[in-house]
Amino acid sequence: LAEKLQNTFSKLKGKGKLDEKDVNAAMREVKMALLEADVNFKVVKDFISRVKERAVGDEVLESLTPGQHVIKIVKDELTHLMGETQSKINFSNKPPTVIMMAGLQGAGKTTTCGKLAKLLKKEGKRPLLVAGDIYRPAAINQLEVVGKQVEVPVFSMGDKEKPVNIAKESILHAEKHGNDVVIIDTAGRLHIDANLMDELKEIDQGVNPHEKLLVLDSMTGQDAVNVAKEFNETIEINGVILTKLDGDTRGGAALSIRAVTDKPIKFVGMGEKLDELEAFHPDRMASRILGMGDMLSLIEKAESSFDQKKAREMEEKLRSQQFTFDDFLDQLEQIRNMGPIGDMLNMLPGVPSKQMKNLNVDEKELNHIQAIIQSMTKDERTNPGIINGSRRKRIAAGSGTSVQQVNKLIKQFEQTRKMMKQFSGSGMDKLKKKGGK
Ligand code: GDP
Ligand code: MG
Repeated sequence: LAEKLQNTFSKLKGKGKLDEKDVNAAMREVKMALLEADVNFKVVKDFISRVKERAVGDEVLESLTPGQHVIKIVKDELTHLMGETQSKINFSNKPPTVIMMAGLQGAGKTTTCGKLAKLLKKEGKRPLLVAGDIYRPAAINQLEVVGKQVEVPVFSMGDKEKPVNIAKESILHAEKHGNDVVIIDTAGRLHIDANLMDELKEIDQGVNPHEKLLVLDSMTGQDAVNVAKEFNETIEINGVILTKLDGDTRGGAALSIRAVTDKPIKFVGMGEKLDELEAFHPDRMASRILGMGDMLSLIEKAESSFDQKKAREMEEKLRSQQFTFDDFLDQLEQIRNMGPIGDMLNMLPGVPSKQMKNLNVDEKELNHIQAIIQSMTKDERTNPGIINGSRRKRIAAGSGTSVQQVNKLIKQFEQTRKMMKQFSGSGMDKLKKKGGK
């Protein structure tokens, strides 16, 4: 898949903008690639049309080639399709929380029961494992071994009792022994059959679990999707645990499962060991399905530098709108031609006239002000904060005024600046326009 996509996108390289023809051509190949990766046909179709819609006419990020830009969109949409955020176990506020595991034989139910118990124990829960698979030889024993490894108690009633009764009893047992989570292991079959489904339905109705988690083998690809569909229709699952992702499967199943069942993938199995269960991360999965580690990290880097550039531009803008002594001088000169400052500021919306009263400036004072500002260095005009005592003395001497006059001006300036901050950008423009005529 990675190679396919890379080939396709390298064809797009060097073009300035994404037009419909580019995107269509690329998406034809993406479609083939996804189908080859064992993603469900309908899912691929929906996916393609969504990406097309988004990609055509999209302005290519400055720092990306058009090809990289399409990859970014593809990855974003893959992530979106698999659920933006990871989801967790829904704990009941009336313990014990009952979790039922379901799935075909060999999917990894029993192992995952142990993994989940271990994970929950680490979170401070007191789980109880329940041996609900009474058919597979040694299934009970297997769970007991797993329970011992993760140091979690296992509830079992042998292989003579009906699973629904074992489940019911286990909850009473949990209540009595202070277990706040009950994890029920169930039987599987090699294929979906009516007996299995009936049994699961019976347990479901018997104990009304808070979580019904379907364990699916990621290696089985398309089949996993059909299984997910069937189980979901029978017992309406809450989520999926995708196992054996430590193998070399691309995980195309994850994409389809979410799309077909609309149920989140909550955890992924990353190995046979009992601590190899991880929260599902849609964005990581998207990267995996695309299989373009290097390309994707390159894109991320480009994206973040794009953000930095934007931030710098914004900063520049802000700085240019910041009121400096040069602006102040500018304003004062304009005011001279305009009459009383109060009149002008009254024309602007949102300026409290009270604040204006102490801004009365007369002609003579304006001359002093002009002299003072002209005695400032460029740095001092843009960063008045740096004008300390000795600078004030120098400025006063240079402008033929007193330090008191310099202080007064700086204070006035600070007041004006505070006021300017209250104006919107357009207010500022208005002020300049009015002053300018
Ligand atoms: P069950 O029939 O659904 O209860 O499946 P089991 O828990 O007995 O697991 C079947 C096989 O899959 C065992 O050999 C497990 O060790 C293996 N298995 C389960 N989860 C994983 C996983 O995430 N990665 C790998 N590599 N093997 C797993
Ligand atoms: Mg089992």
